[in-house]
Amino acid sequence: MVKDLSDLRIQYIKGVGPKRAGLLTLLGIKTVKDALYYLPYRYENRSKIRKIADLRYSNIETVSGKVISAEVIRLPGRHLKIFELTVKDESGLLKGKWFNQPFMKKNFKVGHEVLLCGSVKRNPYRGIGFEMDNPEYEIVSDDGDPLIHTNRVVPVYRVTSGLSVRQIRSIMFNILTTCIKDVSDTIPAEIINRTALPELSQSLSQIHFPDSYVDVELLNRGVSDFHKRLAFDELFMLELGLAVMKRESILKKGIAFNPEGTFLKRLMEMLPFSLTRAQENVFNDIIRDMKRHYPMNRLLQGDVGCGKTIVALMAMLIAAECRYQSALMAPTEILAEQHYINIHRMIEDLGLKICLLTGSIKDRPISKIASGEIDMVVGTHAIIQEEVIFKNLGLAVIDEQHRFGVMQRALLRKKANNPDVLVMTATPIPRTLALTLYGDLDYSVIDELPPHRRPVTTLLFKSKQKDYIYRLIKEEVKKGRQVYVVYPIIEESEKTDLRSAIIGKNAFEKFFPEFKVMLLHGRMKAQEREEIMASFKQGKIDILVTTTVIEVGVDVPNATLMLIIHAERFGLSQLHQLRGRTGRGSHQSYCILLAYEPYGEEAKRRLAVMVKSNDGFRIAEEDLNIRGPGEFLGTRQSGMPDLRIANIVRDSMLLSDARREAFSLIDREPDLKGFPLLRKSLERFWEGKIELFKTG
Ligand code: ADP
Ligand code: MG
Repeated sequence: MVKDLSDLRIQYIKGVGPKRAGLLTLLGIKTVKDALYYLPYRYENRSKIRKIADLRYSNIETVSGKVISAEVIRLPGRHLKIFELTVKDESGLLKGKWFNQPFMKKNFKVGHEVLLCGSVKRNPYRGIGFEMDNPEYEIVSDDGDPLIHTNRVVPVYRVTSGLSVRQIRSIMFNILTTCIKDVSDTIPAEIINRTALPELSQSLSQIHFPDSYVDVELLNRGVSDFHKRLAFDELFMLELGLAVMKRESILKKGIAFNPEGTFLKRLMEMLPFSLTRAQENVFNDIIRDMKRHYPMNRLLQGDVGCGKTIVALMAMLIAAECRYQSALMAPTEILAEQHYINIHRMIEDLGLKICLLTGSIKDRPISKIASGEIDMVVGTHAIIQEEVIFKNLGLAVIDEQHRFGVMQRALLRKKANNPDVLVMTATPIPRTLALTLYGDLDYSVIDELPPHRRPVTTLLFKSKQKDYIYRLIKEEVKKGRQVYVVYPIIEESEKTDLRSAIIGKNAFEKFFPEFKVMLLHGRMKAQEREEIMASFKQGKIDILVTTTVIEVGVDVPNATLMLIIHAERFGLSQLHQLRGRTGRGSHQSYCILLAYEPYGEEAKRRLAVMVKSNDGFRIAEEDLNIRGPGEFLGTRQSGMPDLRIANIVRDSMLLSDARREAFSLIDREPDLKGFPLLRKSLERFWEGKIELFKTG
């Protein structure tokens, strides 16, 4: 789009003026360009004109005829004023009625040619059989002005008070007739040709005022080729920005690690298992990146339990061997504590120093981190606080990236001069989507679980079946296994009638006096929590009653049963994460979903998916479908520009095309020198988020 339309204030369009311009602003429309992209949210097909004699009751129909009377009628004994319009065509008569709108009378004169569109009703009084209440209307003008409210597929816009859909439609029509010629395509024509999508100006005209040949059903679903064209433009701009950033990151100078692999070798000797093929492949990607002289920026995806931690540790050992510090940031204290304990155990013998850094740790080893005495820091977002200064941070790992925003990633990266960055997530999403969401990252996936894992058996129970559940728990503990019981809340509260962990713990203790039952939740002191986790891990606790604090990362292979209370309240990805705490050893594991009725359709769907599937990729897909991309992906915090038309899930094919085209364009024309207009729209689209364009 040429610059003029983004700068052309809506106020100067015919039929707008200052007052309506103010109202349009409420709809987000300030400029002509905004208006062009304010799309109808649905369409009504008023293109079929029916003879009055052929009308059928309760259908929505359009008729065309001559006004033979137009009068305001007052019903005796009531305050109601009705404006009545009688229209005649060659086949019969129709009454249009508007209630309490006497001012309508001034719009019509006997002899006017008009079109009426509305639901057909039976006229209760004698004489005329058909009637429409508050129909849409249009008066055919003598000047041959085109009809925009009837006799066609009519766009319906969202309105705001003081501005009717009729008024917006007229304004839109004026804009399209006067300005569409100034719409120019900034995306290179050869790219558009390859997509086989229609031109931009044609797409905009057709979306607002479609020709009669256009499929109304596709329009209504927002998936016509014209919609796709607009979506493609957005996705192309999105990917073009990512391509620019990606290119920049390659130009930056990073650390070229040069390891011999001594620590790694010793770790491998200590490990009680060998790596899966997928883990090896991914580690090869990582070490290749680390050896390069520009910064690594890699996303590692893998379902819960696939063994991401060990891969991260291997990378950290490479850094340590090359005398660089590394940091591992986790979203919860429990997870950080656990990583700390595990890694500590494994690297003790290597003579490396590790510390834990979380919000609840009193003696923070800040000075030892600054002096370089400490090799590895494991912690929560406490790591990115200002006072934490590294001597030479070479590698930053972020675990469970989906819990952090890009800002936090950026802050961690800023703790050093272009360190290598590895981000890990167990919320798998399709590849192109991941690449887009995580912006400038490269992508690896662990698509295989360690051997001898048995899929967790998931069972759904209603609250009446508690006895059976207790029996299962008893059997499992008798076998020497351990059990998690997860509650949605810590304490009973007046706001909800949910069962809580504190009460639950007491109940389980009473019910199983012979077992050791303990409570664990996020409001406990860190030290207490650590002790409880440690004794659970050592098998000293049989039943751990807890909350979602254990949702991510916690790893106790002997825990083979998880009971989730109020399973209907949890999100799908959350349930999958929770379930992933079991099935980590060689014993068969169970996840029992206890659901309290009544619950809605959506909850029913979630629970059914859980019972049916153990596959994180499938579950993520379903979750995306159920919740929609906005909520699932938390795009608001991702730092991505807002998409007005495209939907990165629904339009995944377009997204792949857009990505391919954008990256290949930047390959050919890194600075977009030959495309000044495109450069300009890119800058607008990303609103200065791309530095290249600030300076250039
Ligand atoms: P996640 O990818 O969910 O973070 P973890 O890294 O916590 O998974 O690993 C889950 C469990 O699997 C841990 O107990 C870990 O020691 C074990 N594990 C990791 N890799 C292997 C492997 N190749 N063979 C057997 N067990 C493994
Ligand atoms: Mg993990």
